[in-house]
Amino acid sequence: SQRLFFPLQQLAEKFTAIQAGLTAVERINDLMNQPVEIRDPEHPQILPVHSNHQPLGEVKFADVSFAYKEEDWVLKDLDFCIHPGEKVAIVGPTGAGKSSIIRLLCRLYEISKGQILVDGVDVRDLPQAELRRHVGVILQDGFIFAGDVKSNISLGEEYSLEAVKAAAEQMNVAQFIEALPDGYDTILRERGTNLSGGQKQLLAFARAAIRNPRILVLDEATASLDVGTEAVIQEALERLLEGRTAIIIAHRLSTIRNVDRILVLNRGHLAESGSHDQLMEQDGLYASLYRLQLLGQQV
Ligand code: ADP
Repeated sequence: SQRLFFPLQQLAEKFTAIQAGLTAVERINDLMNQPVEIRDPEHPQILPVHSNHQPLGEVKFADVSFAYKEEDWVLKDLDFCIHPGEKVAIVGPTGAGKSSIIRLLCRLYEISKGQILVDGVDVRDLPQAELRRHVGVILQDGFIFAGDVKSNISLGEEYSLEAVKAAAEQMNVAQFIEALPDGYDTILRERGTNLSGGQKQLLAFARAAIRNPRILVLDEATASLDVGTEAVIQEALERLLEGRTAIIIAHRLSTIRNVDRILVLNRGHLAESGSHDQLMEQDGLYASLYRLQLLGQQV
C-alpha cells in the first residue's frame, strides 16, 4: 500500500512507537513484499483500564494459524498465554516464526484461524491506535529519524515537554540530552549517525516509556541483561520492564536465562515451554540449541 513509500520521517509522525519501530529497513522490505490492508473495526472496543484487583497485560494466542501465502503455514494451531507482568522469551531456529508472532500481535497481518487476545480483547476488535498505545515495540536498531530530540521521543504525539523530559530522566538519557547544544531541540541525523549505540537505545527506551504500554516487545539485542551490557542501560531497561509484560525475541540464548519463561518455537509449533533450568533438564530442542550456541562461542 501507498503509505509504505512515505519517507521515514513522515512514517514516524504518522505512526506511533510500534510501527515506527517496525520501519527498520528489513521490516519495510517485509511489509512491501506483502502489503496487507488492516481496517479498524466497525464497533471498536477499548482495553480494560487499570484496576488494583486485576493486573493487566495478558497476551493470549488461542489456536492461531497463519500463512503469508495461502496454505503455506508459518504458525499452526499455536496456543499460549503470557500472564500480566510475566517476562517471556521466544526462542527457536531461524524461520521458526518468532517475528511473525510479533507482527501478528501488532496486527500487521491478519490470522487465518484462532484468536489473538490482549487482556481478553481480540486485537481485531481494537482500533490500531489503541493497540499501539498499549503494546510497545523496541527493535534492534533504535530507529532515529532526522528531527529534534523531542519529536524523536514523542513521535508526533502531543506530549508536553515535561512529559518528554520525565521519560528521558526515567531512562537515564536526560543528562546526555541536556548537554547537547540545543537540548531537546537538538536536531538528530537520520539513523542517529551522530549518536552512540547506547544513546540510541536509551532514546528508544524513552520513546517507549512515555507511552506507558502494558506490554513491551523487545529484541534480544536491546533486552540483553547480561554483564556485558552497560550498567546505565541495564538499569533503564529494568525500570522500563517493571510492572509490564515483556516479550523478548531471542536469537542468542545466553542473554535470556533470567526470564520467567521461555517459549521454544519450532516450525510454527510450540515445542517446549519452561524456565531455563526446566528446559535444560528436559534435554529437548532448547537444550540442544543451547549447547550448540555454547559450542559456537568456544570456537
Ligand atoms: P523467525 O523470526 O523465527 O526467524 P519468521 O517469523 O521471520 O521467523 O519467519 C517464519 C517463516 O515465514 C519463514 O519461513 C519465513 O521465510 C516466512 N516469512 C517471513 N516473512 C515473510 C513474508 N513477509 N512473506 C512471506 N514469507 C515470510
